[in-house]
Amino acid sequence: MSIEFTPWPDDLAALYRKKGYWIGQPLTEALERQAAQRPEAVAVICGDRTITYGQLDRLSGNLAGQLALRGLGHGDRAVVQLPNIAEFYITFFALLKAGIAPVNALFSHKQSELLAYASQLRPRLFIADRRHSVFADDRFLGELRREVPELTHVLFHGAGEEDESLEALMGEAPARVVDYRPSPASQVAFFQLSGGSTGQPKLIPRTHDDYDYSVRASVDICGVTADTRYLCALPAAHNYPMSSPGALGVFHAGGTVVMAPNPDPQTCFRLIAAHGVTMVALVPPAVSLWLDAAAGSSHDLSSLALVQVGGASFAEALARQVPEKLGAKLQQVFGMAEGLVNYTRLDDPDELVFTTQGRPISPDDEVRIVDESGNAVPEGEAGLLATRGPYTFRGYYRSPEQNGRVFDRDGFYYSGDVVQRTPEGNLRVVGRVKDVINRGGEKVASEEIENLLLRHQDVTHAALVAVEDKLLGEKSCAFVVSRNEELKAVALRRHLMGLGVADYKLPDRVRFIDAMPLTPVGKIDKKILRQMANELALP
Ligand code: AMP
Repeated sequence: MSIEFTPWPDDLAALYRKKGYWIGQPLTEALERQAAQRPEAVAVICGDRTITYGQLDRLSGNLAGQLALRGLGHGDRAVVQLPNIAEFYITFFALLKAGIAPVNALFSHKQSELLAYASQLRPRLFIADRRHSVFADDRFLGELRREVPELTHVLFHGAGEEDESLEALMGEAPARVVDYRPSPASQVAFFQLSGGSTGQPKLIPRTHDDYDYSVRASVDICGVTADTRYLCALPAAHNYPMSSPGALGVFHAGGTVVMAPNPDPQTCFRLIAAHGVTMVALVPPAVSLWLDAAAGSSHDLSSLALVQVGGASFAEALARQVPEKLGAKLQQVFGMAEGLVNYTRLDDPDELVFTTQGRPISPDDEVRIVDESGNAVPEGEAGLLATRGPYTFRGYYRSPEQNGRVFDRDGFYYSGDVVQRTPEGNLRVVGRVKDVINRGGEKVASEEIENLLLRHQDVTHAALVAVEDKLLGEKSCAFVVSRNEELKAVALRRHLMGLGVADYKLPDRVRFIDAMPLTPVGKIDKKILRQMANELALP
């Protein structure tokens, strides 16, 4: 049984195979190859634990076998939520080995997001961490089971006495031999999370073939080798630290992933010095903090050779400081969980590295820069980014309406970014048309929060817009029209928290207004609201 997804048209699929992009290899191959060839090499360092490739392969094999023994396998989906710990990768590989397709929720996600993923995927398996606040008791689990009756198996990291323990299943091979194997390489391996622009976060089916290609090609572009020591300081589930080249790229090359709980410079500098970290992927606000902290730090950062920065706009003035203050090369990354990833190349002239967000991975990434009607803009001018290629998806999971909005007839995906192309072929991100707030790399879909605000009995209209912020680039400001003059921002915050939405999505500011400004066609005028938000934010 396979999982439905929108396939690439036959002619393009044939081209991608002919060119050697899609090689029919499951994402588990890299791990098995390393485990066979270099079982003692260190794959993951997590706190004081060191996990070799042999162990990573064995632990994930144990778990895959245990899940197969319980009747889970091809066609099944799983919702997984684990923090930045080695078990994240053990679990990921286990599910892939058994042909179960997971979505990895971010650890910051709460009831609202988990329920949204589960109600779309209808998983039989749910894996979470007992130490997450949502699982302090079993109330949410009960709700999840009611909403998703298909759910039959729940495993916990840090399990309580009544729970089935994730670690226990990793630690022990099944009592009898069970047969399991990954789903075919042309089929869905797992689901990535969309940064989203819709009321409900959408899921992105990724096949082994397409994802494996993006990883292999990224390894070459970013110069990852068996000597690479990669610091995973961003949420491990995110596409960027997973595949650009991310942990999967490091595993492909046989290097080591060092887990960090977060990108805080004090924690990370200590890890860099202790483990000789050579490479890190960061978002712009983290780089700002690193640049400030580096001068006064007593830690030896000299092993650090490459700092990748992506996920949100990175100011040129800060980009220029990276080599000098961190003693490392800068690489800008502009990517999306839907597919297309751009990198500045390691041999690009400094000017390009400081002022652009790179160029696509593949010679067969097709990038069109177009106006609102889909016509190409003159070369060098800014326009909407539309793309298709060997690792850019062709449709969100079970979302025909949204797919109708973001794909054109030729199968080009409109990312909602406004970009321009330099004469060298590099892209520069200059704006955005999608209704998303990019909070230093963490994406907040306005519609999602507006819908939740509107569930408050006193709220008649709600609009969430971006307001400029020095550290994060953008923060969120909610404009609210209320039928109750007494309604306070704190009550709205409490309302959202009660609905179980991730903290980073809570509006940074709330402004009450009498009526929404409207455009001539009667839509809420967010341009005016953005102006108002920025004016109000001025000191
Ligand atoms: P996500 O899929 O969550 O990584 O979000 C992808 C989106 O993040 C892109 O469509 C862009 O809007 C934004 N983004 C990613 N990298 C950059 C970058 N280097 N500069 C500006 N925006 C970026």
